[in-house]
Amino acid sequence: MIRYSLLCAQEHEFDGWFPSSTGFEAQAASGEVRCPVCGSAEVRKALMAPRLGRGTKKAAKRSEISAVPDPAQKMNMMMLALKKHVEENCDYVGDRFAEEARRIHYGETDRREIYGEATLDEARDLIEEGVEVAPLPIVPPVRAN
Ligand SMILES: [Zn+2]
Repeated sequence: MIRYSLLCAQEHEFDGWFPSSTGFEAQAASGEVRCPVCGSAEVRKALMAPRLGRGTKKAAKRSEISAVPDPAQKMNMMMLALKKHVEENCDYVGDRFAEEARRIHYGETDRREIYGEATLDEARDLIEEGVEVAPLPIVPPVRAN
């Protein structure tokens, strides 16, 4: 991902994340990149230069905008933290998830946190039985065969 400082036709500054520099060009050309302040699709890359000789009003506006955490970046950090927590504290049970979750729920095995893979049908059945399950934004670890 590449982060660009962008400027709209009315000189509003904002940041955008793009998969690559060509990704930005393509999205800007098709009008997908819009100014969050005025909605203008006339967006160009801002020059990365010290802000010399600019009014303090613009500088203040700029810091207001960048003080808001980038939602995508925040989500990424939360997902990474969650993934780390789960991998460190939970047992990976792979595709036996539904079976293990049931055994824990009915007290047939030690109560512990697990994670693994379940089909949508399996997850729905578990929820109907009152088993607590939650989808996790997690890529299972690569296992050696
Ligand atoms: Zn604007």
